[in-house]
Amino acid sequence: MSGIGHLAAGFAAKSTAPKIPLWVLLVASETNDLLYLLFSATGIEPKADIVTMDFVQGVRFSAVVSNPWSHGLFMSVVWSAIVAGIAFLFYWDRRASMLIGAVALSHWALDFLMHSNLPIFFDGSLLVGLGLENSGMGFLFMTIFDIVILAVGVIIYFRAKSKRNEKI
Ligand SMILES: [Zn+2]
Repeated sequence: MSGIGHLAAGFAAKSTAPKIPLWVLLVASETNDLLYLLFSATGIEPKADIVTMDFVQGVRFSAVVSNPWSHGLFMSVVWSAIVAGIAFLFYWDRRASMLIGAVALSHWALDFLMHSNLPIFFDGSLLVGLGLENSGMGFLFMTIFDIVILAVGVIIYFRAKSKRNEKI
C-alpha cells in the first residue's frame, strides 16, 4: 500500500528534529503499512491479493478492498496521535513528538494521491483517494513523484546534516 516516497517525510523531518534518530522518523512514515502487515497477518484486515499491476494499466483492484484499521482516515489520525504519544514518553519533547506524529500522518496524505479505496471511517463508509495508481499515466506520475520527493527529502536531510557539522 505504498511507495518509497513515504520515507521522504522522515528524511525531511530529521532536519528540524536533529535529536530524533533517523530510523524513528522513517519507521513513523511507514506506520500505516507496518500496521497493515500486522493486521493482514492476523486477519484483522482482508488481504489485498486481488490486485493487478502493470505500467500500462497501473494498479487495478478487481475487487475494492478497504483497510479501515490500517488505512482509514479516522484510524490514521488515531495512530498518529498514538505515535506522537509514544514519542513523547521517550523524548519528553512536545515539538519533536508532534513532528513524529505529523510524519506518521503524512503517510495517509500520500496514499490519498495513490489509492482510491481509503475509507473515511470503517468498512462501509465512504472510500476516498485520487487513485492515480488506477491509470497508466497516473501510475507513472506517482512513480516519478515518489522518486522526486524521496530525493528532495534526502537532499534536505544531508544539507541540514552538513550545516550542523559546520557549526561544531
Ligand atoms: Zn500505505
